[in-house]
Amino acid sequence: MNPPPVASNARRGHSGPMAPPEDLRWPTYRPTGITLEAAADEHPNGSLYVRAEDGRRYLDAVTGIGCAVLGHGHPAWARAVADQAARLASASGTYITAPRRALERALVERTAVPDARVFFANSGTEATEAAVKLALRATGRSIVVAFDGAFHGRTLGALGLTASPAYRAPYLRCMDEPPDDRFADVKVLHLPFGDEAALTRAFETHGDRIAMVVVEPVQGEAGIRPASPSFLIRARELTRRAGALLGMDEVQCGFGRTGHWSAWTAIVGDRADPPDVTWLAKALGGGFPIGACLARADLAAAMTPGSHGSTFGGNPLACAAALATIEIIEREGLLASAGAQFDTLRAIAAEHPIEAVREIRGAGAMIGIDVGERGAAIGAAMRARGVLVTVCHRTTVRLLLPYRAGRDELATIWRALGDGLADADG
Ligand code: PLP
Repeated sequence: MNPPPVASNARRGHSGPMAPPEDLRWPTYRPTGITLEAAADEHPNGSLYVRAEDGRRYLDAVTGIGCAVLGHGHPAWARAVADQAARLASASGTYITAPRRALERALVERTAVPDARVFFANSGTEATEAAVKLALRATGRSIVVAFDGAFHGRTLGALGLTASPAYRAPYLRCMDEPPDDRFADVKVLHLPFGDEAALTRAFETHGDRIAMVVVEPVQGEAGIRPASPSFLIRARELTRRAGALLGMDEVQCGFGRTGHWSAWTAIVGDRADPPDVTWLAKALGGGFPIGACLARADLAAAMTPGSHGSTFGGNPLACAAALATIEIIEREGLLASAGAQFDTLRAIAAEHPIEAVREIRGAGAMIGIDVGERGAAIGAAMRARGVLVTVCHRTTVRLLLPYRAGRDELATIWRALGDGLADADG
C-alpha cells in the first residue's frame, strides 16, 4: 500500500539523499509505538480485534475514538462502500444523490429533533460549526452557552465552546468570553456542567441574548459524564421560555451508543420537548468520515444559499457508508447490545472488584473507569496486555467498544485493567 519512494530528495531541492524520520506525523499525539494494519480476523459481523504490523493482536476499545462501531472489516459495510465507490464517489452538495437522500431520511426518522433538515459535514467539529452558525442566524442573538468539561471540537469556532484550557489556551482570543462586564461582546458563556441554578441565573441575566445552549448529553472527553434528566429538562424549559435554541452535541454519545439512536431520548425520553438542533459524527459512518447537523425546518430556513457549505460534505461514498451502518445496526440488533455494555461491566466489577477503581460511569457502550492519577500508566499497561483504550484527563480509562462487544470482551478488559494496575503498582 506504500507509495513508491521518490528517486532522490534532490528532486525536491535538497542537496542529496536524506533519510526521513520513521514517523512523519506532526507531534500532536502521544506516540504509542503501535502501527495498526488490519482487522485481526475475518468475522461475518466485523472483527473486535485489530492486528498491528508486528503481528500483535489487540482488543480494540478505542475504535478510532468511537467510530468503528461495527468492528473492523464488516463485510456488508465494506461491500456497500466498495459498490458506491465503483458507482459514484463524489458529488457537490448542489446535487442530490440517492445515498444522500436516503441518509437524510434515515437520520430525520431516527434523531430526536422534529421535522428536521440536514446539513452534512465530514467531522464532529464541522458539525458544531454548522450548529453555531445556524443558531446565530436563526435567532439573531450573540451568546452561546457551553459547559465545563465540554468538548465540541478543535476548529477555531468550536474551540470557543470546548472547555479544556489545554486545547483552548493558545487560541483564546479567537472566540472567547471577555473579562468582567463587557457582556455586550460575549460570544460563549461557560457554566458548570449540570448546574441548574447557574443556568437559571444565566437566563435571568442574559436570557434575551442567548442564541443556544449546547450540551453533550453524555460528556465524552470529560471522562464519560452523563447529564442528569433534570438538568436537560431544565435546559429545555429555560431555552423554550427565552426563545433560545437547545442544541445537543451527540458526536460521541449519539447514533446508538447509549442503546438508543439519540442520547437525548435515552436520558430524557418523552419527559420534555425534544431539542431544536442536534449533531453527529464518529459512529455515523461506521468508520468513514462524515458529520451531520439536524435542525428544525423553520430554523434551517435561516441557512440561505451561500451561508454555509462543504466540498466533501454529504458525498455519496460517506452517505453509503452511513446508510450501511444504520442497516447493519438494525439488522444485527446492535442497539440492544450497545445499551447493555455499561450494566454488564458493572456486574463484572461487582463480581471481581478492583480496589483502585474509584468509579465507573457511563451509558451503554460509552464507559469511563476512574482509576485516579495513574490513568496514563494504566493505559500503557493495558496496551502491553493486548487491549487498546484511551485515557481521559490521566484518570479515566475510556471504553468506546464496537456495539456488538459483550461480556467476554468486557471481562477481558476488566482483567487487563486489574493486571495493568498491578503492573503500574509494581
Ligand atoms: N463533539 C464531541 C462531543 C466530541 O467528542 C468530538 C470529538 O471527540 C467532537 C465534537 C469533534 O469531533 P471531530 O474530532 O470529528 O472533529
